[in-house]
Amino acid sequence: MDKIARIDMGATGGPKISYEEVGEYSGLGGRALTSLLIAKEVHPLCHPLGAENKLVFAPGMLSGTTGSMTGRLSVGCKSPLTGTIKESNAGGQAAQVLARIGYAAVILEGKPAGDNLYKIIINKDGITIEVDNSLKLLDNYPLVAKLRGQYGDKVAYITIGSAGERQLLAASIACTDPELRPTRHCGRGGVGAVMGAKRVKAIILDDAGMKTRAPKDPEKFRDANRKFVEGLRKHPVTGEGLPAYGTNVLTNVLNEAGGYPTRNFKSGVFEGGAKLSGEAQAELEIKRGGTATHGCHRGCVIQCSGIFNDKDGNYVTKQPEYETVWSHGGHCGIDDLDTVARLDYMDDNIGVDTIEMGVTIGVAMDAGIIEFGDKEGAIRLMGEVGNGTPLGRVLGCGAEITGKVFGVEKVPVVKGQALPAYDPRPIQGIGVTYATTTMGADHTAGYAIATNILKVGGDVDPLKTEGQVELSRNLQIATAAIDSTGMCLFIAFAIMDQPETFQAMLDMLGAFYGIEMTGDDVVALGKKVLSAERDFNARAGFTKHHDRLPRFFYTDPIAPHNQVFSVPDEEMDQLFNW
Ligand code: SF4
Repeated sequence: MDKIARIDMGATGGPKISYEEVGEYSGLGGRALTSLLIAKEVHPLCHPLGAENKLVFAPGMLSGTTGSMTGRLSVGCKSPLTGTIKESNAGGQAAQVLARIGYAAVILEGKPAGDNLYKIIINKDGITIEVDNSLKLLDNYPLVAKLRGQYGDKVAYITIGSAGERQLLAASIACTDPELRPTRHCGRGGVGAVMGAKRVKAIILDDAGMKTRAPKDPEKFRDANRKFVEGLRKHPVTGEGLPAYGTNVLTNVLNEAGGYPTRNFKSGVFEGGAKLSGEAQAELEIKRGGTATHGCHRGCVIQCSGIFNDKDGNYVTKQPEYETVWSHGGHCGIDDLDTVARLDYMDDNIGVDTIEMGVTIGVAMDAGIIEFGDKEGAIRLMGEVGNGTPLGRVLGCGAEITGKVFGVEKVPVVKGQALPAYDPRPIQGIGVTYATTTMGADHTAGYAIATNILKVGGDVDPLKTEGQVELSRNLQIATAAIDSTGMCLFIAFAIMDQPETFQAMLDMLGAFYGIEMTGDDVVALGKKVLSAERDFNARAGFTKHHDRLPRFFYTDPIAPHNQVFSVPDEEMDQLFNW
């Protein structure tokens, strides 16, 4: 990863490629690279879909190595959904392949005139760009099938579906998994709309002739990786719960805790939760010839994913994740896994964020467009998004816009981005993260559920206000650093509980780069990333008043705990004062 490629999509005479050394970004990867670069180079007041915005693809610091769990690809830009800086990351094969080809980052700049559609081919010989209007308005599955006919199966694909081309604000960027399915998405923040604005439909990554990235100290790296894997395998969450049931193991847990937002955040318990649970899902998948344990990229040892087949044993989609099962399930009053799986396939195919779309459909239900629990109605609304009808375009621009268009008062968003699958009233720590993160409502930015509910890394009572700001602060700092390594965030369960596994991760980084890496270095990296993101957002006009939940979380108690969100504003305003 010794070079950066810039592609000016708006250059006179057609896209122009230039290459440069990594320079000041040397040793950085993932979110650290995307956020520092966007904060430095993008005007914070630019229109996110205009020529001034940039779209950065960056593998993590350890991507492309033999290190386990190192396959996250970060995508950064100014978000068209939130107006903030954005880093959205996904698994799949893309990060490993891009890193092996040698790029620390590929940056799309400018905006082409006209309506030509481009594909970018990146291999050991460099980068080529071609016009390919035959790809217009193809969705991700048929698009990848068509590209495979030309470029084969030994590559990785990064694509957008019709939603990205139409620049819908919930549009995602898809990365193919090891079986070349477009199932792993940089989902949040509308990054797919930015790729659509650049008129780039697909990036084809071919690492033929390239080698795995070599560590400075191979023996130490191998030893640290072995200890790291041992740590993941012995932790109950990463060694048992996630491999057996996927992230959807959380449905029963959150429902029992009274923190499962139901029918657009009207209750914390869903009566149909058991039917949607990870346990029920895994049983169904195995019975139908799918699998409940699958890695989204090679080198994943947790394997939280799976394959969901229909009753005849035909592939429907990858195992829907907890957030997806919730957003299309309990949030919409739907208790049927087959419907959820079909909606998950539509999300992946059209290329939209499953959280944003599920929450949006729930808001549309609240508006009376269809009834809560209407399975066929939900599928019909998704079809409108895929067909680009006027209603579909409204829905495809997310929950906030849908709520405004249809006069819904209680819309669960922060900075324009839909809340994920945990109610902040009975789980106050996650509310602090939703409100304050630089990204708009995002559970992954500081996953307080780990400590509030799962009791990983300590125990902070979810119903009390004490300790929540400190918890969220520490998690946000750690997450910003992990998102920079290219490691899947699920390693956090093991490294929070097991000092030796945390040390193994530090040793992997140290051995790879030939440095001594300490816990303080990780904290410093996380703070540096967050500071750059906060600075960008401040210059984009965001103030402490944007670091709040929607008002109804402060005024409307929710069953069964009958609590409101009550962490004081003044405390939340101190979160980034370190
Ligand atoms: S644990 Fe899950 S999300 Fe993480 S790399 Fe493995 S399959 Fe992908």
